Amino acid sequence: MKYPAAEILKQQIPLLDYVEGQDWKPARRIARGRLMGLCPLHADRKPSFLLDPNKNLFYCYGCGRGGDVIRFAELYHGVPFGEAIALLRRWSGMDSLLSDVIKFYQVQLHRHPEAAAYLMQRGVRQPELVEQMRIGYAPGRCLRAWLMSLGYSLCDLQQAGVVTREGLDTFAHRIVFPLDTNLYGRSIGKADPHRFLPGGKGGLYGWEKVRNCRQIVLVEGVFDWVTLWQAGFRNVTCSLGTGLNATQLHQLCDGASRAVYLAFDSDHNGSGQRASRQLAQRLGAYHIEAFPVDLPDGHDPNSFFVHSGDAQQFQALLDRARS
Ligand SMILES: [Zn+2]
Repeated sequence: MKYPAAEILKQQIPLLDYVEGQDWKPARRIARGRLMGLCPLHADRKPSFLLDPNKNLFYCYGCGRGGDVIRFAELYHGVPFGEAIALLRRWSGMDSLLSDVIKFYQVQLHRHPEAAAYLMQRGVRQPELVEQMRIGYAPGRCLRAWLMSLGYSLCDLQQAGVVTREGLDTFAHRIVFPLDTNLYGRSIGKADPHRFLPGGKGGLYGWEKVRNCRQIVLVEGVFDWVTLWQAGFRNVTCSLGTGLNATQLHQLCDGASRAVYLAFDSDHNGSGQRASRQLAQRLGAYHIEAFPVDLPDGHDPNSFFVHSGDAQQFQALLDRARS
């Protein structure tokens, strides 16, 4: 069966643009303009991923998978067909606007000492990680004027949700983290702490980097993710809240055998602990081994490291969760 919408989408989105948009770099060019590089779909050591920009098709000689841009999005993000279509559609429409917004916020981060101070206070200390994650800051002014000077209409901006109905910056006074198809803003002031653009938070943060790991640490906040990464843990992913959406569950339960450590916040009222026990049961039903991690009372992985916890101590908590 042919899906007309899918055919149109395939013509709109060159496979190479999309794959490069996911940080893929070709290693060499071969005959007829085709490209070879490391496979983004499996742990690849020598370039086995072939991409043909003329035919808009890929094939991997390592994992044996291939297809068009929709198939690539399904495999890469670990989502079903319909979700891949939605993801690509958002990517094509919002890609340029979102990347302009992200660039603006990145520049502002360096111009506003309050933002840098907040990052320090949350234990974010590696400038190269800030760069790599494209973390930015929304100062709460100039965004609309800047984007309109680039040619976007006010209506474009409101539709995407980057400015409010009143024309104000949605993420004002927030540290902003780019996600796959959305943005997450963490307030540095008294405003509502968490904010996203409309349209759902998408899949697990950094999923492509960890999907081949046999053991995964799942945290609920991006600051938890950052501090664990800085401490040397490379098998971390983040659900942006304790409630996993269908895409995130689908990613964790994609049939690969893996163990998942649930390192949610240890709240005084026990809500984080309850959430991780419930999730462990849910994952258990899919034959995923899940281990709730007990952090010291009132701590999350971020505050654990900010309050002088180290990698060895955190590893001890993971080991204890398993025993
Ligand atoms: Zn492969």
